[in-house]
Amino acid sequence: MKKPHPKRKIQPKAFNMPQKTYTGKTDIGLKRENNEDAFVISPELNFCLAADGMGGAAAGEVASMIFAETVQEIFTGNTDSSEQEIKQRVQNAFKSANKKILEDIIQNPDHRGMGCTAELLAFSEKGFVLGHIGDSRTYRLRNRQLKQLTQDHTLVQQQIDEGLLSPDGARDHPLRNVIFRAVGISRDISMDLISGDTYSEDLFLLCSDGLTDMVQDDQIQKILCSEANIDRKAEALIEIAKNAGGEDNITVVLAAVD
Ligand code: CA
Repeated sequence: MKKPHPKRKIQPKAFNMPQKTYTGKTDIGLKRENNEDAFVISPELNFCLAADGMGGAAAGEVASMIFAETVQEIFTGNTDSSEQEIKQRVQNAFKSANKKILEDIIQNPDHRGMGCTAELLAFSEKGFVLGHIGDSRTYRLRNRQLKQLTQDHTLVQQQIDEGLLSPDGARDHPLRNVIFRAVGISRDISMDLISGDTYSEDLFLLCSDGLTDMVQDDQIQKILCSEANIDRKAEALIEIAKNAGGEDNITVVLAAVD
């Protein structure tokens, strides 16, 4: 005999969104004395972030932490998942973190010079919204093809764009770490806001430059295309960055669209 059909529940709106699976890992690397990177994954609030702090005397850690905490505060309790609303929320998060870092520097003059680069990926009903500033990066793997969604806000990227430098020449360039945009370095923050559709099996990677300075895109692609689960993929990315020298802190966040 057939079992009676359970009463059909009306699903809340958010449940129509494709499910995402997240993972994040950070590692101090092999050369640095502290880890100034931070990451957050929040399946409940449909976002993830990676931030890379800079500034002497451990202040970089403070900057990336302020960014992480500010985003969490701004996303908490907000359930509207329309693209327009999420774009607004992502921009607010960057502006608010920028303000808080500058205020912290006024309170703590020894924090002067701190700031952070940041990637903030949030999912809307239909797609994604990405906030980006600095030289951390976001990539997307789709149909086994890896695409860098962000442009580095660096001197070398500017020179590549102007045709003055080849991408190969950029890799070992002495000024490759010079960035001209970050959170917390000026009153006016100029971040990039990127949005697009998501498809089943898309895989997003947010990472600090501790990964991309050490590892070529084709190596990243190979690991992301492997059969391993996303936890193992994140571990493998950290391992190859360390095997290549681990010069800096390494952070990777993965978000898979199921
Ligand atoms: Ca870094």
